[in-house]
Amino acid sequence: MKEIPEALVAADVESWSDEFDVVVVGFGIAGGCAAVSAAAGGARVLVLEKAAAAGGTTAMAGGHFYLGGGTAVQEATGHPDTAEEMYKYLVEVSREPDLEKIRAYCDDSVEHFNWLEALGFQFERSFYPGKVVVPPGTEGLSYTGNEKVWPFTEKAKPAPRGHSVPVPGELGGAAMVIDLLLKRAEELGVTIRYEVGATNLIVDGGAVVGVKWKHFGETGCVKAKSVIITAGGFAMNPEMVAEYTPALGRKRRTKHHGEVEPYILGNPNDDGLGIRMGVSAGGVANGMDQLFITAAAYPPEILLTGVIVNNQGQRFVAEDSYHSRTSAFVLRQPDQQAYLIVDEAHMEMPAMPLIQFIDGYETIAEAEEALGIPAGNLAATLQRYNENAAKGEDPDFHKQPEYIAAQDTGPYAAFDLSLGIAMYSGFTMGGLTVSLDGEVLRADGSVIAGLYAAGACASNIAQDGEGYASGVQLGEGSYFGRRAGTHAAAR
Ligand SMILES: Cc1cc2nc3c(=O)[nH]c(=O)nc-3n(C[C@H](O)[C@H](O)[C@H](O)COP(=O)(O)OP(=O)(O)OC[C@H]3O[C@@H](n4cnc5c(N)ncnc54)[C@H](O)[C@@H]3O)c2cc1C
Repeated sequence: MKEIPEALVAADVESWSDEFDVVVVGFGIAGGCAAVSAAAGGARVLVLEKAAAAGGTTAMAGGHFYLGGGTAVQEATGHPDTAEEMYKYLVEVSREPDLEKIRAYCDDSVEHFNWLEALGFQFERSFYPGKVVVPPGTEGLSYTGNEKVWPFTEKAKPAPRGHSVPVPGELGGAAMVIDLLLKRAEELGVTIRYEVGATNLIVDGGAVVGVKWKHFGETGCVKAKSVIITAGGFAMNPEMVAEYTPALGRKRRTKHHGEVEPYILGNPNDDGLGIRMGVSAGGVANGMDQLFITAAAYPPEILLTGVIVNNQGQRFVAEDSYHSRTSAFVLRQPDQQAYLIVDEAHMEMPAMPLIQFIDGYETIAEAEEALGIPAGNLAATLQRYNENAAKGEDPDFHKQPEYIAAQDTGPYAAFDLSLGIAMYSGFTMGGLTVSLDGEVLRADGSVIAGLYAAGACASNIAQDGEGYASGVQLGEGSYFGRRAGTHAAAR
């Protein structure tokens, strides 16, 4: 990792600008929850926020929170769930499941749901049944992961756990929760300084005892018993993206505008400085090469009755997977190329096509030639798929029956899912290794006294795009942010 900021030595600090019990770096979902929890625990809390307003990437988010185990919305809409089934599911989808964290997250999920609502809002007691990226209305519950996708259907009883804030539409819903956290922070006497960025940690022996800050041309050092880093991920740092998650930096070739920049999701302060500051004090980063990157093939969900094949004409994923799972599999295919093929009877043009419509072909042989698939391969794949579909089966990828339908009525439409062609967007998943209570850990597993991290700059439950469910980042950022704040206040 390059450009690690220097960790300053406390003895070299000539004067301290302030002294607080807890300093929180960044007011997004994790920082907001950490700050109010620390203050509720009796600590004097200062938040340094680099931007002119709170919110960060959280304020751009749609507003799914992954919660379960029998929340009031699940109960009201007739979707029974238990902490045990939620635990089994999250363990199954995680690449390196941290059993202790997943157990706590699931066991506490109903309490956490209640805590979020006690900020001053209600998740609507309603269910959206369709398969979409974000429910179009204000429905409070939907499936946002792979719960109904094989093999997870065999590992845990499916339940919808994507809880959406009551704001319609794609983006910005979670800003509502930031406003409520700001209100709570004010009631609890939290001090917030805007346009003040943390630049360096200050250490004394092995412990973190403060933070250096910058406000335009002015700098200073604030003393603290604990520092909680909640400064977001590194998607906006091109050097770090090139080093760890190059797929996120890959330009896209378009029909009319030549090569265009990839669509990276985040706020400009997602520059990885929080992670790098943690490393400067002895912390280690985990899962830095993992990312959420996606170009959803749905809605409309009828397209998922088709087949997704690589450039050899072979299927490689259950087409009804959560979109970032499908995308993770696309990235592992030869040349990171893939195509969705549907016949005329199942073709519907997406209202917002993220995957690129290529063309329609009278015959499969024409499609193979146009797409550069070896002659006969796609035909063989479709023949097998259609034979099984006639029996309502998909023995190869176990697609759910509602998405199985023979594709045998030409002409055939082809969509391009290839990286560099389809409209992929994404953000980074790696972050500082932390304990259950957000304490930043060294490589040997020991705790760095006085240093915590939560949210997108920490590595907890959201680990990769393959296992991701929408809502896990806001869910875990708020939950582990709370834990870090409470633990720091108790020091
Ligand atoms: C379009 C979009 C939609 C999404 N939808 C969802 C969703 O529905 N559900 C879900 O779970 N996840 C979603 N995500 C992901 C989720 O929004 C983020 O993972 C999450 O908000 C990160 O929260 P955070 O508190 O860690 O960071 P942020 O919300 O980014 O907060 C970090 C804060 O730290 C500040 N900061 C940075 N550096 C410094 C510094 N040096 N000093 C002081 N302050 C600093 C930043 O300005 C920022 O305010 C979405 C993401 C995007 C982009």
